Amino acid sequence: MEEGMRMSSTITYSRLLLSGLMLGGLLAGCTDQEQSGPNTEDKQPVQGAQAKTVHWSYEGATSPEHWSELGDEFKTCELGKQQSPIDIEDDAVEKDSNLSPVKVNYSPSDVSLVNNGHTIQVSVKGENNVIVLEGKTYKLKQFHFHLPSEHEVGGKHGEMELHLVHQSADGDFAVLGALINSGTENAELNKLWSRLPKEENEKATVIEGKFDLNALLPGDLHSYRYQGSLTTPPCSEGVQWIVLKQPVEWSEDQIAAFRNIFPHDNRPVQPLDGRKLETEG
Ligand SMILES: [Zn+2]
Repeated sequence: MEEGMRMSSTITYSRLLLSGLMLGGLLAGCTDQEQSGPNTEDKQPVQGAQAKTVHWSYEGATSPEHWSELGDEFKTCELGKQQSPIDIEDDAVEKDSNLSPVKVNYSPSDVSLVNNGHTIQVSVKGENNVIVLEGKTYKLKQFHFHLPSEHEVGGKHGEMELHLVHQSADGDFAVLGALINSGTENAELNKLWSRLPKEENEKATVIEGKFDLNALLPGDLHSYRYQGSLTTPPCSEGVQWIVLKQPVEWSEDQIAAFRNIFPHDNRPVQPLDGRKLETEG
């Protein structure tokens, strides 16, 4: 495996780097030590390992406005021109008749939870959960949550936001986002929420039985599309964003359970900077 990686092109290497950051170190806790696990090969890039050791947060001296000062590998957080999240203003949205709603093909799956110090991240086992975007297939790797929502719509936050992180066979990332507001309880979510790790944990909490991923999504899959970035350091760009227009509902108790662990874990909105913001036409 190592030999294969060494022989691969620089383009592939940079994608592996992003891959390592996103799936390995990046979304793991700042206090993460070197660890062996299913994503070990993703963590191979040296920069990924360094990024893990830099403490960042949503508060005080290590909050989002300071991320770029925390290490050279975080400079994109300040200098990038395609940063996420954004405020989705109706006036800026263009219809594109070449786009059709994302096709989601998820099935009940084995999952495990980690409190990585920034969010609750859910790893999804297996290769069967995919989305198809304009003919390109992306596999679901993990999903996690933010409170309040990171994206705004017309200047307004949702109470929370779900991010489902996918990767294509050639290394591209697509994140499917859904805003979450209080309302009806999501019964399926209780399978996860009854086992919420309240403290940062390195050993994943394995959920018994299958979790129905479809229960996380709204019925209507029309969306806003734009090219953006990771919303956590190192803020790497080249991420295809799909933000669903229809929010989902959770009960107030379900939202409060997350808030009790993470009072807020959202990066503020970033300038659109001339980027296209599109929707299905
Ligand atoms: Zn996220």
